[in-house]
Amino acid sequence: MKKVIVLTGASSGIGAATAKALSNSPHVLVMLARNEEKMKAIAAEINCISLVIKTDVTKIEEVQKAIATVIEKFGGIDVLINNAGLGYFDPIDEGKLEEWHTMIDVNLKGLLNITHGCIPLLKTSENGHIINITSVAAHQVFPNSAVYSATKHAVLAISKGLHQELQKDLKVTSISPGAVNTAFVNQTTNKEMIDDLKSYFAKGMQPDTIAQQIVYALEQPKDVTISEIIVRPGRT
Ligand code: NDP
Repeated sequence: MKKVIVLTGASSGIGAATAKALSNSPHVLVMLARNEEKMKAIAAEINCISLVIKTDVTKIEEVQKAIATVIEKFGGIDVLINNAGLGYFDPIDEGKLEEWHTMIDVNLKGLLNITHGCIPLLKTSENGHIINITSVAAHQVFPNSAVYSATKHAVLAISKGLHQELQKDLKVTSISPGAVNTAFVNQTTNKEMIDDLKSYFAKGMQPDTIAQQIVYALEQPKDVTISEIIVRPGRT
């Protein structure tokens, strides 16, 4: 069944892998992120109807404009995949306030900006579905990542609230990955930690593994909701 899917953070990592996993599907894929060139290169590789809209999820006007463009071109939105996000790792007493604010702005407020705009459309869709990419850090607090973890706990809470209140109108899925080998780790500015973090994340899952979980949740029959997936690296 053809669905109009809006994917945030489509320029890299899990988002890019998700776009590729949707290649050859009947769906319409709308790709949002700030790096337009990267998204255009991914769109050129995939074989389904796609649209790239340069959007910073922290900017409400850009988000609203992107949603208006999707309505104009495709008439509505069936699926919102909230994947845009970032993490800065630091001991809490060395944390940089600006980095804490950025994590809250992107991971939490950015997610709310687009979710708020999409809810009315998802409610009227026959196939309304929100898929939120959280993290194992939504379930436990790891050292050096208290604020990142707080944003992902919040995303999990929002997912549960959306499900509780809107389950008659739409599906809600939260997917919580452990370490995934993407550019995610490169955000960290703590020079003492970065080498260890890079080698830790390099041993993580491939982004396509998470993309396959997203597709799995997406392609369930209409009467089945996958509420939560937690996926961790296996033994190597
Ligand atoms: P990447 O760094 O590879 O991708 C992050 C994506 O988020 C990019 O497409 C980036 O696009 C986008 N993004 C960041 N800021 C903004 C913004 N202001 N507006 C719009 N898009 C933005 O990391 P991952 O693919 O690993 O991360 C994807 C999600 O998975 C995140 O939510 C992350 O927290 C989560 N996650 C990752 C794990 C990991 O180990 N990698 C583990 C658990 C969860 P652009 O810069 O072009 O705007």
